Amino acid sequence: MNTEVSTERRKKGPYVVIECPEKIPCDPCVDACPNEAISIPGSIIELPEIDYDKCTGCLVCIPRCPGLAIFVVDETPKDHSIIYIPYEMLPRPKKGDTAKGLDREGKERCEVEIIKVIDAKKFDRCAIVGFSVPRDLAQEIKAIKLRE
Ligand code: SF4
Ligand code: SF4
Repeated sequence: MNTEVSTERRKKGPYVVIECPEKIPCDPCVDACPNEAISIPGSIIELPEIDYDKCTGCLVCIPRCPGLAIFVVDETPKDHSIIYIPYEMLPRPKKGDTAKGLDREGKERCEVEIIKVIDAKKFDRCAIVGFSVPRDLAQEIKAIKLRE
């Protein structure tokens, strides 16, 4: 089991990033993954672990997290990276829209371009939005702010 996302793994394709800092009794992410890449060792209040040998970056787990704590990052494009985030707000952005990329503190860090919106019917309040960011911000941008 490889719980670190190595440089080699990052070159291979999209991978999940889970930022779930609090120990709470929660585990929908475990059942969500079709590849059994997410596990919670021991008690349900422990933090989830990712097996990067199993994660394919399929996006399925993103809308299943009630804490909006799951992202997928793709660093394989040459001149930018792609980040996929959960998005519960309305209206949804559209492919080709531009927006501000916000970091963990909500600070505007860059312009992003929306490249994909998946509005899965069975998760009617949570879409998946993918957008391009500068390569050096692949681990920093966690939300977007649409233009007025
Ligand atoms: S992105 Fe897909 S393969 Fe990776 S942990 Fe999430 S559901 Fe599993
Ligand atoms: S579903 Fe989300 S909040 Fe719950 S354990 Fe998994 S990552 Fe953390």
